This record gives sequence, structure tokens and C-alpha cells, in this order.
Amino acid sequence: MLKDELPKIITKTVPGEKSEALIARREKATPGAIRCVYPCAMKRAQGAMIEDLDGNLFLDWIGGVGVLNIGHCHPEVVEAVREQAGKYFHGMFNIVTHEGYVALAEKMNEIVPVRGAVKKTFFANSGAEADENAVKIAKAYTKRPNIIVFSGAFHGRTMLTMAMTSKKSYALGMGPFPDGVYRAEFPYLYRCPGNMTGTEAIDYYIGKIYKVFEEASPADQVAAVVVEPLQGEGGFIPAPVEWVKALRKICDEKGILLVADEVQSGFGRTGKMFASCYWKEAGCEPDIITSAKSIAGGVPLSAITARAEILDAVPAGVIGGTFGGNALACAAALKVIEVMERDRLCERSLEIGEKIRTTFNKWKEKYAVVGDVRGLGGMVGIEFVKDKKTKEPNAPLVSALIKECAAHGLLIENAGTYGNVVRFLAPLVITDAQLDAGLSILEDAIQKCM
Ligand code: PLP
Repeated sequence: MLKDELPKIITKTVPGEKSEALIARREKATPGAIRCVYPCAMKRAQGAMIEDLDGNLFLDWIGGVGVLNIGHCHPEVVEAVREQAGKYFHGMFNIVTHEGYVALAEKMNEIVPVRGAVKKTFFANSGAEADENAVKIAKAYTKRPNIIVFSGAFHGRTMLTMAMTSKKSYALGMGPFPDGVYRAEFPYLYRCPGNMTGTEAIDYYIGKIYKVFEEASPADQVAAVVVEPLQGEGGFIPAPVEWVKALRKICDEKGILLVADEVQSGFGRTGKMFASCYWKEAGCEPDIITSAKSIAGGVPLSAITARAEILDAVPAGVIGGTFGGNALACAAALKVIEVMERDRLCERSLEIGEKIRTTFNKWKEKYAVVGDVRGLGGMVGIEFVKDKKTKEPNAPLVSALIKECAAHGLLIENAGTYGNVVRFLAPLVITDAQLDAGLSILEDAIQKCM
């Protein structure tokens, strides 16, 4: 079965003839702004493997950028969607009530670690939509106009989420942006200034939040602080728990809601169902969590979960949308969660993460170009530099690695403000043999390209 295969390139060149033809049609028919540097045109996919139109087998370490924690085409998810399709595709939630939406909201209320005993959930279609909604809800609840976001943050490509996103190459020429979005520095410990100790660094970054209160928006005008528990596009940078604790304290003192954007870190990726489960264990869980990507195994869906009191503060009609909580997506999500819990994919995420981190750390000792290795569970990043002392980012190397790995059947993606991080987002159903094969392709590529 494809899901158990190892990467294998059978064409003389990559892409092969059929893939090349489809990629050429793509270039003519679709905008180049939706960039794609990969030579892979899909024929079918299972687990962590993609077969292309020419019969090449690619090992997928990108998983649709964190959408496929459960793997490509999990048979039980396929069956759940098929069964739902035989009943009804869509039941707009403003018009009719459907079981899938309600059951999924109940399940999310059970598993999403937001503060409060009684929780509610509603559904949208994408991560950006979920984040926009979280901000709207926070404004409705607090009756305040502003929000604080972070350096390195990525929240999406709508007008508000472009404003919230740090890297402005994602928003070139798109201003003016919505007002009331202020930015503090994210605790990127590998690149923190000077030779600070851990505690000094936390104090430094917390100080940056007070600076926003002083120079940009008084705290009593801030509705929410929106933070990724582990920055995704920003370079797989975990928010240190001590920093989160201090942030939580500030939010409590100032009446600000803490929003965790778990669009990329959710659904088992970090070794818990949500990265915020670690926060909860440390007593600093968020007020609102947004999730998307892996929630429905590839069917578009996103969710916003908060305690009932917060969600019930929104005036009627202000949130919702035609497709949010589509019946096919809800059926997929219910099955994804059932399988993840039953098959203990969070534990598998920890196992995979341990193996990847151990190997990457060995490479850090071995290769002058590996600057930092970091992550949580199966969400692991490896940062490449030109020089370990100066930490000068090495984006050209990462671009070369992506190309070289693809030529040998491994799909890897970059991340980070400087594009110099390789991120590991493989489906959590990846086999040990596939994991080893991927690590071997990547190490060969490092030796060849550095
Ligand atoms: N938030 C985070 C943390 C993300 O990683 C992403 C996408 O990569 C988004 C929001 C936006 O999600 P979408 O592309 O589904 O709008």
C-alpha cells in the first residue's frame, strides 16, 4: 500500500513528463503569486506518501502545511465524508440545525483547553477567518478597540490578519490596514539581544509588552493579545511557558483576553491535542483558542472556542457565514478527533519529535550550518546559519535543500522571518522506516549543499 512505501524517484528528471505538463498548465491558468517551488503533481496520496502523475513516490514532511496530522486520505475519514455525502452536503447553521455541527461543537468544548467551565464553539472555514472572528469576539466582550500581536506572527491573508501578520512581504502593496493592531516582540530566545539568561530574556520580552501600553495603546483599550503558542511561519519558535505565565498575569490584571492561535500547532502536532494544554498544566490557559488546518484532515474547517460568557457577548448576526461548519467538514473532523484519540497520535507525535530532535541535535554538533534546533512534540524546526557565532541566516542553503530533497523524493518546507528554518510537519502516521528515509535524504542534502 502507498502509505507504507518509501520515497522513490523513477523518472530521469523531476518533475517527470506528466507532472511537468500539469505544472505548465498551472502556470498558464493560475496566478504566479500562489508560489510553488515543488515539482510534485499529485496522482494520489495516503498516510505520509504522495504518488505523482509519473509514478514517483514523495515522502511528505509538509502535510499541506500542518493540515494532515492524521495523514492523507485516512480511510475512516474518507468513509465518514462519504457517508455524510449520502445524507446531505450542507445545512447552513443559520437556517437549519444539523447533528454534525452540534456534536463537533460539543467535542471541541470537551477537548479545547480554554479557561472556564462552560464553553462554546463556532465554526468558520480557514485559519484567517478563525483569527478574525476571535478578534471580533474579544472586542464584543471587552468593548475595547485594540489588539496586540507579535513580531514573527502569521495569522493569515485577509485584511485584518495581514495587519496582524508580521512579515509584510505577505501583504505587499495591500495597505492601508485596519487600525488598532499593535506589535510587541515575540520571545525568540535564539536571537535575543546580548547574553541574557533565560530569566533576563523573559523580563526583557515582557517589558516590550508594557512598552506597547506606554507608546501605542493604553492597556485599558486592549481587547486581546493574540499569540501563537509555537510560531509556525515565524520559524517554529515556542513561546516559553514562563513568558506565557507572565503574559497571562498581565492580561488578568488589565482585563485583556488571551487568544491562542492554534491553527498550525493544534490537533496533536505538539504532542498534546493543543499546545495550550501545556499552558493549562502551568495554570496559564488562554481565553479563546482558534484552530483550523488539521481539524478536518484536509476538508476546509476552522473553529473558535471560548467560555460561553465570552461567545455569548457577541450581538446577533455579527458572527457566522455561509459555509462555516459545513456538514462534510464536521463529519470529517469528528472522525479525525476520534481516530487521533483512539490511535494515540499525541503520543506518536512525542515519539516522532524525540527522534527528529535527537537527530537534528546531532547535526547541530556535526555541521557548522546548523544554528538551532527547537520545537514541541512533533513540531520541530532546524535553523540554518552561515556562521554559528554571528548567526547570520542561511536562506540560500534552505532553498537548495528544498530542491535537493525534492529531487530525491522528500518534500520539506522553509519557515522563519529570514526563510532559513526547515520545519517538520509530517503526518503523525508516518512510519519509522519513512522517518529514517527522510532523515537520510535531508542529511545527504545538507552534506551536498552546505
Ligand atoms: N494562523 C496560523 C498560526 C497559521 O499558521 C496560518 C496558516 O499558515 C493561519 C493562521 C492562516 O490560516 P489559513 O491559511 O487557513 O487562512
